[in-house]
Amino acid sequence: MINSHAHLDFDDMNAIAENAVAIVPSIGKQNWIDVQMYPYFSLGIHPWLVEAHTQHDLDHLEYLIKCNNPVAIGECGLDYIKEIDKKTQLHFFTSQLSMAEKYDLPVVIHAVKSTEDVIFLLKKHPKVKGEIHGFSGSEVQAQLLTRMGFYLGFGMQITNQQSTRLRQIVKNCPLEFILIETDDHSNPNELRLVAQVIAELKQISLDEVVMQCDNNAINLFNLK
Ligand SMILES: [Zn+2]
Repeated sequence: MINSHAHLDFDDMNAIAENAVAIVPSIGKQNWIDVQMYPYFSLGIHPWLVEAHTQHDLDHLEYLIKCNNPVAIGECGLDYIKEIDKKTQLHFFTSQLSMAEKYDLPVVIHAVKSTEDVIFLLKKHPKVKGEIHGFSGSEVQAQLLTRMGFYLGFGMQITNQQSTRLRQIVKNCPLEFILIETDDHSNPNELRLVAQVIAELKQISLDEVVMQCDNNAINLFNLK
């Protein structure tokens, strides 16, 4: 079972890091080196951390992307709940979208209360493919994104019965565009729980969910 988004290099992730097949995203210059200990890593600057980065860091990021073969760029994106300068967030996000275009790599996107702007920017970079991890947008946005060929990542939030809107989105989203993830959680059993809920919501077998989600990750991230 492939974990499409797991911060294995964070502290206290030992239990989950064991035997995990995962895409390990970086959040900024502080872990660009650490994530490279894992076979499948992505390099990028998280929207929460843009103010701690400079143009020089962006140039260095591009250098690492060129030399070190990440499977993706990210995580990058926009977060409008946090009080972080919007213009700076937009600059770092669009810079990383341009790198994705230039190096033909998928993007791992963090979008919180910003999905509309993310879609607007993705339309300006039509060649870029990727995923919205921890998807929290609307049903209409989910449909729009999957029609654009984007994958949607879902984690433990869908196991909460109260997340009715999100669970409805999972139910309606074609399985061919779904990825499963544990993000920054440290419990290795959660990935299976997420897959189980998808199987229940779609009334299909767990095996089918796991097989298709694995294939989705293999296709998007070009895993060998
Ligand atoms: Zn993350």
